Amino acid sequence: MKIPATQPVKVALPKLANNLLETSGIRNTDARRNVLTMLLGANRALTHLEVQEDFPSMDRVTLYRTLDCLTEAGLIHKISGDDRVFRYSASHEVHTQGAPQQHQHGHFKCTRCTRVFCLTGTEAPLALQKQLQHSLQATLGNGFQSHEIELTIKGWCASCAQT
Ligand SMILES: [Zn+2]
Ligand SMILES: [Zn+2]
Repeated sequence: MKIPATQPVKVALPKLANNLLETSGIRNTDARRNVLTMLLGANRALTHLEVQEDFPSMDRVTLYRTLDCLTEAGLIHKISGDDRVFRYSASHEVHTQGAPQQHQHGHFKCTRCTRVFCLTGTEAPLALQKQLQHSLQATLGNGFQSHEIELTIKGWCASCAQT
């Protein structure tokens, strides 16, 4: 069964993409707006190849640059997969001013189909990060600070678990 990469595009998404680009400080180009709109509508993280399928007329290099630029601006984030392929996602988290929240949420990686999902809209990863920070200092001492904690849950996604 082929699962569509994107949900039907909601009317509000192009406008949201436009607003995000306008406030990001990077130039608001058609390519950036279109790719960001597509990722905002995706229900999971997508590979370069999957994004390319939606934009057959855009050349590879332009798409790579567009994805890089959106990543640097903090409008999307990339997640490395176990298959060594990067996947891109526009997380729906609210960004604190000037500080893009990259990887502040956890990810689910399916070990069967390699699809990657962002765990947004839940406080659980944040609470877990606090606990881990606490156990870091309890184990190694107060001098240790953690700057980044990546939370990854591996398992089977709903469609893989069914088959
Ligand atoms: Zn799966
Ligand atoms: Zn994510």
